[in-house]
Amino acid sequence: MTISRGGFVSAAGAAFASIAAIPGRASAPPARTFVRGSRGYDAARRNENARLDLHPRAIVFCKDQNEVARAIRWANEGGGPIAIRSGGHDYEGFSLTDGGVVIDVGGLRGVEVSSDGTRARVGAGTDAGTMYHRLNEVGRTLPAGTCHSVALAGLTTGGGFGLIGRRHGLMADRLERVRLIDADGRLRDSAHDPDGEEILWASRGGGGGNFGVVTDLFFSLVEQPANVVLFSLEWDLAHAEDVLQRWMAWAPAQPRELVAICLLQNIPAQRARVIGEYLGSQAALEANLERAFARADALDFSVETMPFIAAVDRYAGYGAARTSWKMKSSYGAVPLGAAEIAAAAALVRRAPSEARCILQFDGFGGAVNDLAPGATAFPHRTMSYSLQYRTYWNDVHLAAPAYAWARDAFAVLDPHTAMKSYRNYCDLDLTDWRERYHGENYARLRRVKTLLDPSNRFRFPQGIEPA
Ligand SMILES: Cc1cc2nc3c(=O)[nH]c(=O)nc-3n(C[C@H](O)[C@H](O)[C@H](O)COP(=O)(O)OP(=O)(O)OC[C@H]3O[C@@H](n4cnc5c(N)ncnc54)[C@H](O)[C@@H]3O)c2cc1C
Repeated sequence: MTISRGGFVSAAGAAFASIAAIPGRASAPPARTFVRGSRGYDAARRNENARLDLHPRAIVFCKDQNEVARAIRWANEGGGPIAIRSGGHDYEGFSLTDGGVVIDVGGLRGVEVSSDGTRARVGAGTDAGTMYHRLNEVGRTLPAGTCHSVALAGLTTGGGFGLIGRRHGLMADRLERVRLIDADGRLRDSAHDPDGEEILWASRGGGGGNFGVVTDLFFSLVEQPANVVLFSLEWDLAHAEDVLQRWMAWAPAQPRELVAICLLQNIPAQRARVIGEYLGSQAALEANLERAFARADALDFSVETMPFIAAVDRYAGYGAARTSWKMKSSYGAVPLGAAEIAAAAALVRRAPSEARCILQFDGFGGAVNDLAPGATAFPHRTMSYSLQYRTYWNDVHLAAPAYAWARDAFAVLDPHTAMKSYRNYCDLDLTDWRERYHGENYARLRRVKTLLDPSNRFRFPQGIEPA
């Protein structure tokens, strides 16, 4: 990466040249288009989740804004929906489409840092791992998530929460400006567009795939801490009730410098775990953990100080094999009661033996809750924890029991939460997704959709509907 004195300088060269003119109507398919049946098509339609099996009419790989504009115009000539893909991690495959065209901007990559080191322009397809390592070179960072291969466009447009999120808020909260190509193939820059305020507001947590193809995200950076403290505590699942009860009383009340996650899992071993990251001293955290949890019963009670970037790599999820999964999610504002905690433990104990089943509680709130629900399109600003119901399988015969477990767990626990869901943990089972993902922001999101894509060219099962 190059850092200039006079402003933004490209890390990826010509791919980030500013757009002078967008070519007009184009009937020939753009370069690097995989139409159904062509060689390479099956690899091109693969997303992270092996469960998905959608068949787009074509997948167009773009490397700059001009190619995106051309791809949209070409897709418009053929009709059908247009799906947008960056990192391909969408839980339900909303970045794919049956019969329509996928515009893939995974190639729009790069991180450019402003001369004073306080801001960065990031290409839509840049993955979190690349971003962390580039910004590490200048001692800055962003509060992205844990998995390195998640792309920043999908992450940020849906919200984006990670291990320093209680201290620094969401990725969406650090977004200052966005560039996208709209449904007519026109460049819209929130800094110069008459509708710029609405474009930026909707791009800050309203959900990706709805308004146009984001090509560039401009963030205000945070100072990267030199060191962080990681912790990993583990008990046999027999202690699950005690561990979750203690976590519920403790994690949301912690200072913003601490994010703690509680996991109840069946595979590779039946365990209750508490893991996380602290921006402070190891001695203080050790004393805090000793007070909060029963160390005597623990199988593991590790606390370790390391450079920030080493911690990022520790949590990166490198090398995880591609698998099938189904997720569901709830947010909670107040702790679960003893009966629900016992029910959560029982759900994991009776999980199907060969499908991996996890209840994951993330400490939430802190800086995220400094903003009002309508300040950005991300509405969940009063919550203290996020709950994910996660299940994974490799053998297709396990899909039914895994799904049944996730649905059962959701039916048992969700009524005792705030009954809201994270758009980035999307779930096709939800019929009330408008309210659960977007709350009172949905009406404004529809108005933005109407401004940018009135004929609903960018559409998918839980997409924002134009007015
Ligand atoms: C292994 C794993 C770990 C995760 N960890 C975290 C975490 O720590 N924190 C967290 O908050 N979330 C996390 N998530 C959820 C993640 O934020 C979402 O799945 C996110 O939407 C993925 O973005 P993507 O670009 O990689 O995926 P994609 O499938 O490419 O896109 C996801 C959505 O964004 C839209 N989109 C993608 N690119 C663009 C674009 N350029 N312009 C407009 N719309 C676009 C798509 O149409 C789709 O609706 C994780 C997901 C996985 C699979």
